[in-house]
Amino acid sequence: MSTTPTMRSRLKRNRPSLRKLARPPKQRTALGSAFNAANLPVALALQHCRDCGTVQYPPRELCRQCLGDALVWRSTRGSGHLVSSIELHHSLWEYFKRRLVEKPWPVASVRLDGGVIVFAHLAMATFGTAANPRLPVGTAVQVFTHTDCSLNAVMIAVAADTPVDSRDQRHAIAAGLGLLEPAIKPEGI
Ligand SMILES: [Zn+2]
Repeated sequence: MSTTPTMRSRLKRNRPSLRKLARPPKQRTALGSAFNAANLPVALALQHCRDCGTVQYPPRELCRQCLGDALVWRSTRGSGHLVSSIELHHSLWEYFKRRLVEKPWPVASVRLDGGVIVFAHLAMATFGTAANPRLPVGTAVQVFTHTDCSLNAVMIAVAADTPVDSRDQRHAIAAGLGLLEPAIKPEGI
């Protein structure tokens, strides 16, 4: 049976599993879009309060410390320590479902030296993971953002001694995680 273009577009909309290309989650709030824009030119930009100096994440309308509204995006050091790490084995999101067929997806929460806790994709390859697949709490890491293939800035955590000063170095790590390409189902529509 052949499908018409209308049927195909309806199927693509309603049945992500049938799509040829599946991408990471795309929707962001207005503050999430501001985070994307602020992170485009730098390795990591977070909201800073101009009145009391508090750094905050996730982005908010007001300062979590003084409730002031003088919030600015500033380039921020990504050094920090692991709070916890886990491997994702299951997801309802089609992009991750396809990635998870190959191997589990490691994610981590990290306390940055600036005080905030962020959630990040974990680039295990930078830790020499063959010997030690589980990273101890407190492991020194650094976090940067990169734009994924849904055009959103996502956080990536790497071993503290990983060179990530240049955009090319960060790009290579994000590409290695598979974040820059959709997950493909060759027979999809
Ligand atoms: Zn403040």
